[in-house]
Amino acid sequence: MDDVTPMNDLELNDLELDRAAHPGALVDPFGRAITYLRVSVTDRCDFRCVYCMAENMSFLPKADILSLEELDRLCSAFVARGVRKLRLTGGEPLVRRGIMTLVESLSRHLGSGALDELTLTTNGSQLVKYAGELARHGVRRLNVSLDTLDPDKFRAITRWGDLDQVLGGIAAARAAGLAVKINAVALKGVNEDEFDRLLEWAHGGGMDLTIIEVMPLGDVGEGRLDQYLPLSMVRARLAERFTLEEIDYRTGGPARYVRVAETGGRLGFITPLTHNFCESCNRVRVTCTGTLFMCLGQEDAADLRAALRASEANDLLHAAIDEAISRKPKGHDFVIDRRHKRPALARHMSVTGG
Ligand code: SAM
Repeated sequence: MDDVTPMNDLELNDLELDRAAHPGALVDPFGRAITYLRVSVTDRCDFRCVYCMAENMSFLPKADILSLEELDRLCSAFVARGVRKLRLTGGEPLVRRGIMTLVESLSRHLGSGALDELTLTTNGSQLVKYAGELARHGVRRLNVSLDTLDPDKFRAITRWGDLDQVLGGIAAARAAGLAVKINAVALKGVNEDEFDRLLEWAHGGGMDLTIIEVMPLGDVGEGRLDQYLPLSMVRARLAERFTLEEIDYRTGGPARYVRVAETGGRLGFITPLTHNFCESCNRVRVTCTGTLFMCLGQEDAADLRAALRASEANDLLHAAIDEAISRKPKGHDFVIDRRHKRPALARHMSVTGG
């Protein structure tokens, strides 16, 4: 990739040295190679989506949060072990101060060929400011979360968001040459009548659309039962208007895609509750405090921050990563608890990152 800053010799040696000292891909006990790391770079967000956060969230103290240099070191250690795809998420990744420094430094792994893809999941609010820079640093695709095209509903869902700002951000990303995939969470009684419109809008703008089933993560102060809408119903309703053709397309994530014959665009479904997508899981997630979650739907985690901060060499870090991957569970079992109406996991999505 010629428009990406090439890795200088010293950095290249660092990655190669790390590889030589800690050879071997990350393979879990079920034979799944870990090639995809999602990194939550901050727990803060400029929105308060009703299914994601409570309105009065308390955030982590700064000292607990990994510095940009530590995040770079952590990501690079995973790249040295065979991770080919990095996704920065949050919270809102683009509200982290100095985030472009991290994007720029990680882009050296694109330049060296060690990494196939560096990408972000964002709410789009800061894209007018950052789209051009992201493209210059080798980012090619973005996932932008957008649940509705109705400005009042958008404000009600995000509590603090402004639809025009996000639409402007998406336009800026497209103008900068970035491919955009729209992610929409299906919410009962909120946007369930809007998916045909969202689909036509996204596909009309050359963007894929993925619909996500709401997951019972974190106490958000509203009943999960009131939000939950099985995607089987969304799909059945869309199939009344559109021809949905099964296709093999995969992005390395959990979505299953169809092509919509009438628009020619792709439509993805992420269905953690109605369909378990664990068998082919190639992912792990790390939070902004350096906590590694081997599964989005389980509590088990490993502290990588202690290993990072204990020594300047990466030996302890790699040992901690190996130990954690050896505990990656086979899968998760989300249940919307109908009797107690409590979340399946106490952790919010904004902690682990989407
Ligand atoms: N702020 C960024 C954004 O809005 O895309 C990145 C973080 S956000 C936590 C990532 C994704 O998780 C968003 O698409 C959001 O809609 C989704 N999400 C959050 N809570 C969820 C939940 N309980 N169930 C399903 N998706 C959720």
